[in-house]
Amino acid sequence: MTDPHAPSHPEIREAVAKLCAGFPGEYWRALDRDRTYPTEFVRTLTEAGFLSVLIPEEYGGSGLGLGAATAVLEEIHRSGCNGGACHAQMYTMGTILRHGTAEQKARYLPAIASGELRLQAFGVTEPTSGTDTTRLTTFARRDGDNYIVNGQKIWISRAEHSDLMVLLCRTTPRDEAAKPSDGMSVLLVDMREAVGKGLTIRPIRTMLNHATTELFFDNLVVPAANLIGAEGKGFKYILDGMNAERILIASECIGDGRFFIERAAAYAREREVFGRPIGQNQGIQFPIARAHVQLTAAALMVDKAAAMFDSGVPCGTEANMAKLLSSEASWYAADMCVQTHGGFGFAEEYDIERKFRETRLYQVAPISTNLILSHVGTHVLGLPKSF
Ligand SMILES: Cc1cc2nc3c(=O)[nH]c(=O)nc-3n(C[C@H](O)[C@H](O)[C@H](O)COP(=O)(O)OP(=O)(O)OC[C@H]3O[C@@H](n4cnc5c(N)ncnc54)[C@H](O)[C@@H]3O)c2cc1C
Repeated sequence: MTDPHAPSHPEIREAVAKLCAGFPGEYWRALDRDRTYPTEFVRTLTEAGFLSVLIPEEYGGSGLGLGAATAVLEEIHRSGCNGGACHAQMYTMGTILRHGTAEQKARYLPAIASGELRLQAFGVTEPTSGTDTTRLTTFARRDGDNYIVNGQKIWISRAEHSDLMVLLCRTTPRDEAAKPSDGMSVLLVDMREAVGKGLTIRPIRTMLNHATTELFFDNLVVPAANLIGAEGKGFKYILDGMNAERILIASECIGDGRFFIERAAAYAREREVFGRPIGQNQGIQFPIARAHVQLTAAALMVDKAAAMFDSGVPCGTEANMAKLLSSEASWYAADMCVQTHGGFGFAEEYDIERKFRETRLYQVAPISTNLILSHVGTHVLGLPKSF
C-alpha cells in the first residue's frame, strides 16, 4: 500500500513551494497595504506554467487534471501567498474548452496557455439579483452581427487585470423564456476594446486585497462571433464551470488551513508563559489538534470531488460539500491561530491577520454556505425547497 499520508503530486508541490519562497510575507503585506495587484507573482506563476495545467496539451497547456491544479493552489496558500489574483486564469477557459467552437478554441486557448491573453474575469453576480442568478437583468440585444449589452455587474474580480471576460447575460427576458434558467447566454468580452467604449470598471475596496470591481455596461458592442455555445443556454455552461471553481477554491482553503495550523503549532511549541510552552496547555493544544482533524477530513472531500471531476462523473454535490467543509475548516484554523498567537496574532508582520481576513471570503464566495446547505437539503435529502 502506498503511504496514505503522502500528499498527491509531490513534484508540483515542491516546485510551487520553491517559487512561493521568492514571495515572502513582506511582498504580500506591501500589496495588501496599498491594495495593489501581485503582478510579479502572477507573471512568475504564468511563466512556470502553473496557470495552464488544465489546458490540454494540443492547445499548449500541460493537460493535467483538477487534482494537479488543486495541488498548485493548496501549496500557494500553504506558503502564505494567495492565488486569488490569478486562480480564474486556470479554470475560466473551461467554458471555451467545453462549449466553444473549434475556431474559438484555436484562437484563444493557446494564447491563454502562454499567458499572452489573460482570461480571468468572470461576470455573473449583479447587485439586485445576488445569488438568485436567473433574475439577473444585464441584457444583450442582437443587432445584426453584434450584441448590444446594457446592465450592471458587481464583485467582478480581476476585471482590470484581464484581457477577456466570460459574461453571463440575458438574451431573452426571464418572463418570456420557457423556464427561468433559459434565455441566458455567455459572451466573451474583449476588455481591451470594451473599456471606455460602453464598459466602465469601478474598483471596490474590500477587507482583503482582491482586485474586485463593479461593471457598468452602456450600449457595449460585442461581436456575435463572441457568443460561446448556443444562445439562451448560457446558464448551463456557467454551472458546468462552477464545479471546477468550487473544488479549486476549496483547495485554497485547505492551503490556508495548513498555513494556520503550521504557524500555530510552531508558535505554541516555542512561546513560553508561566514557565512552560503554551502548547503544553490543553486549552491551546486541543484547538490546534481539532483544526488539524477538521482540515484533514475536509481535504479528503476535496480529493474525492477532484477525482470525480477528473473521471467525468457528476460531482456537483461533492464540489459543494468540499467547499463548505474546507471553508469552515480554514476559518476555524484562522480563528485558532489568532488565539494561539495572543496579541501577536494582530500584528501585521506575522501575516496571520492578513490570512485571517483573506480566508473569511470563502464562506461567502464563490457560493455562500447557506446556498450549499440548501442544495444538499433539497437535491440530496429530498427536503422541500424554501425559495
Ligand atoms: C471579494 C469578492 C469577489 C467576488 N468575485 C466574483 C467574481 O469574480 N464574479 C462573480 O460573478 N461574483 C463574484 N463575487 C460574488 C459572490 O459570488 C457573491 O457575493 C456570493 O455568491 C453571494 O451573493 P450575494 O453577495 O449577492 O449575496 P446574497 O445573494 O444577497 O445573499 C446574502 C446572504 O443571504 C443568504 N441567503 C440568500 N438567499 C437565501 C436563502 N434562500 N436561504 C438562506 N440564505 C440565503 C446568502 O447565503 C448570504 O449569506 C465575489 C464576491 C466577493 C465578496
